[in-house]
Amino acid sequence: MIYSLPNHFKEAMWWEQRRDGSIVCKLCPRECILYQDLSPGACGVRVRVGNKLYSAVYGVSSGWALDPIEKKPLFHFYPGSCAFSIGTIGCNLFCLHCQNWFISQARYKRGSLSPPISLDTLTPEEAVKLTKKNRCTSIAYTYNEPIVWYEYMLDTAKLARKNGIKNVMITNGYINDEPLRELVKYIDAANVDLKGDENFYKRLTGTLHAPETILNAVTIMKEAGIHVEITILVIPEWNDSEEFFKWVARWIIDNFGPESIPLHISRFFPNYMLRSLPPTPIRTLEKARQIVLREGLKYVYVGNIPGHEGEHT
Ligand code: SF4
Repeated sequence: MIYSLPNHFKEAMWWEQRRDGSIVCKLCPRECILYQDLSPGACGVRVRVGNKLYSAVYGVSSGWALDPIEKKPLFHFYPGSCAFSIGTIGCNLFCLHCQNWFISQARYKRGSLSPPISLDTLTPEEAVKLTKKNRCTSIAYTYNEPIVWYEYMLDTAKLARKNGIKNVMITNGYINDEPLRELVKYIDAANVDLKGDENFYKRLTGTLHAPETILNAVTIMKEAGIHVEITILVIPEWNDSEEFFKWVARWIIDNFGPESIPLHISRFFPNYMLRSLPPTPIRTLEKARQIVLREGLKYVYVGNIPGHEGEHT
């Protein structure tokens, strides 16, 4: 069938058609196989149309704001500067505790060319123009997972760089190597969410091949020379063990040294489908911070506790 596609549909990168006619998305390790016309991948925003794969959220935004760069959080990258922050919809993970579930879990329905929630047009040109007008140092690709709107992020990042603007990505790091290597050529800094061990990824996010894929993404970013910080959202009973924090600290130090990657240990509040647990006790976060500092990490902060002494650089 021939469709008249809306402007926010743009042919995607990183896919191939197989002999049986199906289309495989090669952007993230899920490698969704799409057999039917107008069927979205698991992230909900990459859609098969005819014999091609499209990004269905190109140049549209679920919201933008002027944020302090520390809110991303990035504490060691142009401190005190403004980040023009944009997001769309969709995500390639299914975290039961998602804080932004109303946009991350909004997905195209099969057979539809209309987004599931209303989105505003924000082309790469407009994003760059607004960043300059508001005197922001960087554009932050954030709020929902930017990997799933790869083409929009990449084009905006290229244009931003030409205009002397920095690019920062707030990401779950769940992406295949080749697309990431191409993307990081235009990215200056990233905050990567490291969620937990294999059991955590399987049971709370519906994800296989993690955390190894995420650690691999961090390695690719560091090899490309971009600034990286890591955030762990600490959830009671799921990723608050001494063993886990020691392992994270050792991995960072052994691979990149004690001063290379600032670590944010952040407080969980009940949300979305994980409302049965209490907020993380502040003592748990303080203890986790002490553990990684004792292991030798130099820059460790607690997050989501306004005014806490462990939040200062
Ligand atoms: S980016 Fe989306 S469509 Fe592509 S493999 Fe990942 S979840 Fe599937």
